[in-house]
Amino acid sequence: MVTALESSLAVPLIQLRALDKYYGGAHGAPRAQVLQDIHLSVYAGEFVAVVGPSGSGKSTLMHILGCLDKPSAGQYLFEGQNVSLLNADELARLRREAFGFVFQGYHLLAENTALENVQLPAIYAGMGEAARHARATTLLTQLDLGKRLQHRPGQLSGGQQQRVSIARALMNGGRIILADEPTGALDSRSSEQVMVLLRQLAQAGHTIILITHDAKVAQQAERIVEIRDGRILSDSAAASDTCVQDPPKPAACPESWTSNDGAHAVKGVPPVPVMPVLQAPSQSQLQSHHPPDHNSNVFRAELREALRMAWRGMRMNAVRTGLTLLGIIIGVASVIVMLAVGEGSRQTVMGQMGAMGSTIMYMGSSFPPAGGPRGQLSEADLEALAALPELQHVMPVIGDPIIVRYANAARQNYVYAAAAVMPEVHHWKVKKGRYFTASEDRGLAPVVVLGHKAWKFFFPDMDNPLGRQLLIGSASFEVIGIMSERGADSGLQDYDDMVFIPYQAGRARVYQAQTQPDYVVVQVRTSALVLQAEQSIRTELLARHGGREDFSIGNAAARLLAEAQARDSMTLMLGLIAAVSLLVGGIGVMNVMLMTVSERTREIGIRVATGARQRDILRQFLVEALLLTVSGGAAGVFCGIVIGILLLLAGVPLIFSLTAILGAFFCAVITGIVFGYVPAKNAARLDPVRALEAR
Ligand code: ADP
Ligand code: MG
Repeated sequence: MVTALESSLAVPLIQLRALDKYYGGAHGAPRAQVLQDIHLSVYAGEFVAVVGPSGSGKSTLMHILGCLDKPSAGQYLFEGQNVSLLNADELARLRREAFGFVFQGYHLLAENTALENVQLPAIYAGMGEAARHARATTLLTQLDLGKRLQHRPGQLSGGQQQRVSIARALMNGGRIILADEPTGALDSRSSEQVMVLLRQLAQAGHTIILITHDAKVAQQAERIVEIRDGRILSDSAAASDTCVQDPPKPAACPESWTSNDGAHAVKGVPPVPVMPVLQAPSQSQLQSHHPPDHNSNVFRAELREALRMAWRGMRMNAVRTGLTLLGIIIGVASVIVMLAVGEGSRQTVMGQMGAMGSTIMYMGSSFPPAGGPRGQLSEADLEALAALPELQHVMPVIGDPIIVRYANAARQNYVYAAAAVMPEVHHWKVKKGRYFTASEDRGLAPVVVLGHKAWKFFFPDMDNPLGRQLLIGSASFEVIGIMSERGADSGLQDYDDMVFIPYQAGRARVYQAQTQPDYVVVQVRTSALVLQAEQSIRTELLARHGGREDFSIGNAAARLLAEAQARDSMTLMLGLIAAVSLLVGGIGVMNVMLMTVSERTREIGIRVATGARQRDILRQFLVEALLLTVSGGAAGVFCGIVIGILLLLAGVPLIFSLTAILGAFFCAVITGIVFGYVPAKNAARLDPVRALEAR
């Protein structure tokens, strides 16, 4: 009768059934069979040596066993479960929880210290930082590398590097150690040490699959599987492949590798002075039975790892990084400065338009260019113009210096005769009293409104001159209001010095000689209509004047509007140029990332072998691209603002826009994601076996 324990022990840890592996075959490449009809069962706790000459398929077998490669045919059962049914993430998890790889070439990350190299698998397994650090330190110390924690692989001997890689294999438990020619590159003494270590691990309950071409090395295993030309020639424990009633070692119970008490440490084997007892890993430290995929801790640890690696990569290739950054910086800074300059000059023009009144046009009669008498703008003309739909107001103006007096005060004063809409047209308010009305204008009412300075001149001591009679020329006008102070904003003429009378009263009582207004102020309904309004006025007057162009229209508003539009399109063009330079910066990022990925192919292979998922690799390279563009973007914002301030100090009108600054920055960041994605995706898709074989 078979007990539950015995039947669970009877399931091999690893079982290969009729396994084949070909290379080539596709795209007309010659098909080479590397593994042929492999049947192999390995039980927990076994120490198996796979021995065979070079090229016999050992490494290929190991890659398949370690889930770095897939068989072409046949089955691979891990603890009875068909591995071909696992997806990429599950395979990654199996790799990091079950396997520890030891390679002939060590495959350590050259830029990382021994301590960091050992910790790598635990980062992907989600072990907390402190626990990870402590365990890696313990492992390295036990492997006699306690004084080499901070050394990089280049500063370690071959034997030391191989021990670092063994410590890394043990980091997540190393339930199954897959060692491919671990002594192949070592001197005899270091080889000896590594072999003793592997034997100790086997004694401690680890399952060891040792691959070697050296029969002497293989002799140290408990079981030897001979392989030649992709076929298994002999198996010293052939019975275990077929006879399930014969589980190999009771010591190799599945729990043994997880226990924390050292009970399965070396027993019965002569102690080796250099190698202390190895403790099995602690399950609570390892967290390997909690799905770490949704663990924010893992995410943060990986992010930190990715940032650290990115920072290192940037520093290592300082010149290349600097040039790429320069591209981004120029792009971002120029977007910011160009848009600020554009906005500044636009605002300047708009400011001018505001000061002049963006809807105001001036017109008057003139001599026609074709010759002939000066034109006449009649009352009927003005009424016709007032009826045009584009126009809000049509305000005829007559103005001249006239002798004005009150009591003893007298002077030549500019007398402005215009329609009642004057305050509205000039956006001007009455301070005291009131302005005259349109009906007063029509009724030739003899009333006058004083500018601020004129009030002070004629009525220096009189707070309220309303109701007083002012003598303008020879006519008497009653003061009915005082305009608010306007300030010297209107060029040559000082409106504050003037007095204002109704147009009709002015023509009848002051300017009797005038047959027409000096000029006409036209207010267009909206600034968008100024050009159209000018056209309508021209058409109307030409029709009324028999086709003679005996008038002129001063359309400052239209000129300014055109200028503002020209500057708008210039801003757009500058912005486009700047955006293109940002794009060029982005292409630089992509270029650098593609180079980085191809330079670090082996690193990617190592990461995958230690349990990184595709998305971990993708994330790492995206983080690198992002770090590049975020720092470039930030530096670009800084430079843009500094350049802008210098330009401001040099007198260039310039207005920073927060939208442009944030926009440029986020464009840079998005550029990093977009242009970093393809290289990162390439990295994540790399075949781990090919990647490991890269230089
Ligand atoms: P070993 O590790 O025993 O020296 P390998 O497993 O590395 O042998 O290689 C076994 C055979 O497979 C060799 O003949 C080798 O040339 C061939 N091989 C290995 N990798 C590839 C590959 N990617 N494409 C084609 N042939 C390969
Ligand atoms: Mg090999």
